[in-house]
Amino acid sequence: MSVHSVNFVSYVNNLKTHCLGFPRIGSQRELKKATESYWKHTISLDELLVAAENLKQQNWQTQKDAGLSRVTTGDFSLYDHILDITIMLGAIPPRFLWHNVDSEIDLAFRMARGDVEQNIPAMQMTKWFDANYHYIVPEFSPRLALSRRSCGVVRDTRTAANLGFSPKPVLTGPVTYLALSKNYGNTNRWEYLDNVLEIYQSVLRELSELADWIQIDEPILCTDLTAEAQDAFQKTYPKLIAGSGTAKILLTTYFGTLEGNLDLALSSGCAGLHLDLVRGNNQLDSVTKKLPADMILSAGVVDGRNIWRTDLSSALGKLWKIQAEIGRERVAIASSCSLLHCPVDLDNETKLDPELKSWMAFAVQKCGEIAVLSDLLDGKVSEKILEENTQIIQGRKTSPRVVDDVVQERCASIEPAMLQRKGGFAERKKSQQSLNLPFLPTTTIGSFPQTHSIRKARRSFRNGELTQPEYESFMQNTITDIVRKQEELGLDVLVHGEPERNDMVEYFGEQLSGFCFSENGWVQSYGNRYVKPPIIFGDITRKQPMTVQWIQFAQSQTVKPMKGMLTGPVTILCWSFVRDDISRAEVCRQIALAIRDEVADLEKAGIRIIQIDEAALREGLPLRKGDADEYLTYATDSFRLASSGADNQTQIHSHMCYSEFNTIIRWIVRMDADVISIESSRSGMQLLEAFREFEYPNEIGPGVYDIHSPRVPSTDEIIRLLAKALQYIPKNRLWVNPDCGLKTRDWTETLESLKNMVAAAKYLRESE
Ligand code: GLN
Ligand code: ZN
Repeated sequence: MSVHSVNFVSYVNNLKTHCLGFPRIGSQRELKKATESYWKHTISLDELLVAAENLKQQNWQTQKDAGLSRVTTGDFSLYDHILDITIMLGAIPPRFLWHNVDSEIDLAFRMARGDVEQNIPAMQMTKWFDANYHYIVPEFSPRLALSRRSCGVVRDTRTAANLGFSPKPVLTGPVTYLALSKNYGNTNRWEYLDNVLEIYQSVLRELSELADWIQIDEPILCTDLTAEAQDAFQKTYPKLIAGSGTAKILLTTYFGTLEGNLDLALSSGCAGLHLDLVRGNNQLDSVTKKLPADMILSAGVVDGRNIWRTDLSSALGKLWKIQAEIGRERVAIASSCSLLHCPVDLDNETKLDPELKSWMAFAVQKCGEIAVLSDLLDGKVSEKILEENTQIIQGRKTSPRVVDDVVQERCASIEPAMLQRKGGFAERKKSQQSLNLPFLPTTTIGSFPQTHSIRKARRSFRNGELTQPEYESFMQNTITDIVRKQEELGLDVLVHGEPERNDMVEYFGEQLSGFCFSENGWVQSYGNRYVKPPIIFGDITRKQPMTVQWIQFAQSQTVKPMKGMLTGPVTILCWSFVRDDISRAEVCRQIALAIRDEVADLEKAGIRIIQIDEAALREGLPLRKGDADEYLTYATDSFRLASSGADNQTQIHSHMCYSEFNTIIRWIVRMDADVISIESSRSGMQLLEAFREFEYPNEIGPGVYDIHSPRVPSTDEIIRLLAKALQYIPKNRLWVNPDCGLKTRDWTETLESLKNMVAAAKYLRESE
């Protein structure tokens, strides 16, 4: 080969394998420990930075050891990577600039967490697309002046290069950043675009001296773009390309398909385009056909959103197809999205059943899969690897632990009548009159404070320090106490308080077959909060009643109605890692059948009111409006399947923790719960505006106070909110309850708040 052609090949083909980002939390949750220690002043800022440096270097080493051709830099953050861009741009909300900035790290923490001493509220946080990661929402308000501040990505890229790694820096793109920001006052954030681009250009200029490829994430391209965002995109990329010198830009898209935004991406002028070929495999043909000759394709074939081992032969099939269309030199192999959404290292799992474990791959293993795929494509490794993988994948598909014929047959024979309550709402309401509830009935959402002693009892039981009878009697005493307190408060519909539950999804997952749990499979939800989602690997069945014992005991302690408390199928689905061999709709139905059986058993045990929480129904919405109906159909069908076996005289409640449901109100109606409770106190009942146009036909309890804050609401304040609610909801259909469960609050404020809430309801009843 001539020197020239070697150069040519290495020039074009130098980004062969990479991941879009690596989890930053550390395999032992080092990041959480370090930041929390820093906040508690038990370690210094320098010590925090050392911990962070160690994590970054470990991650680079992992990627290098796996054989990836680049290590990603700039994906690390002490709290949130969007917050870091906000700092980089100097888009600091003025309320945080009340004194000279001590360190930008402290500034970032104050922005994320608020400043309690100065009584400065934190910035808002919201879901990152449809992932369970939450970012700090940038605020654009009239007085905002942008100017470049410190920028971790440049520092980290330099460090990595100095340490001998081949870094590929990543930045969230300006269009995604602005699209996810919020306007305050009458600011239009898009007017800041030029300003933002100047700062990005200056950063890119520095990065171009350290790296040959720069990854710019524009996941917003996988959503329905506004006209403003489309315009901004067209303005942005010529400028970023001009600003990045000899470095090439890899434009990354993920979490879905480009659809109508494909041409925007293809004409961006970027040197590479990344596609999510797990969720968006159907776009492959249209892209390869149109891909400009000077653009490479980064093929996201390893799922960054799940924990399953990659089916190498299926991934290889995609890669062969791409290679045939555009040539090997123009293919890079990658994770579908950042591995931020995966747990770190499967090797840390010592208790997982070996067969189940063999079906999984966490972030470290996924890096290895990316490298192996490249070697397989190039014929550099033996086909044996492929055969072994195929065996494992086939084994999973047919394993008796995955397939349960009884469940599948039951699912296949679901009749439409099973999704329908016996009577309509009016008829049910009549049957439920025997509950003898007053006007404006008062209740709570389910959990009561999870005190230290409650958590300790659960832990001791798990460790074997408490025997089953000891544990049960502790829980019964706790429940009795919670019931007494509610009776003293004068609440109308009581709950058992959920002391036996660690988490509303895990509690059910642990009792259902088809679920398993990792020991260390943590994923960052936001900042220092991580979650360890249950893993759904097989067909789901209920082995035995899951809640009846506790609810029945609680009911035996009072003559007031005790509300049975269940988590709904959609919420269990959304907050788990879900098997990828059957549709999510099918998994959801299976869970619904299990919950349906629990409803029947609660009824048999004499429980007259049953609440099925669907906290996650709205957040499960797909990214594209066009996909919403399909999801909402199976989601609401599943709720109906879970609840509709109940007799007319059984009152079905549901709780949802969000207030912006104007767009999905008709779907909530379709759930046909007798009573729903929703969040609304923070918006001052604003959400009820939705009912001006569309009346909610059943009963509804718009939360009258915000349980996310320790503040005790006054009786007057609650009366005012209820009076407002009565303008929208007839008094015989209005309930009185807090916003959400009380498990994170302490007893003092809980009792005071509920006392005021009950007093407000009584006042309004009496002034009838
Ligand atoms: N019943 C649950 C509780 O009260 C509901 C929690 C939630 O909506 N997130 O804790
Ligand atoms: Zn809630």
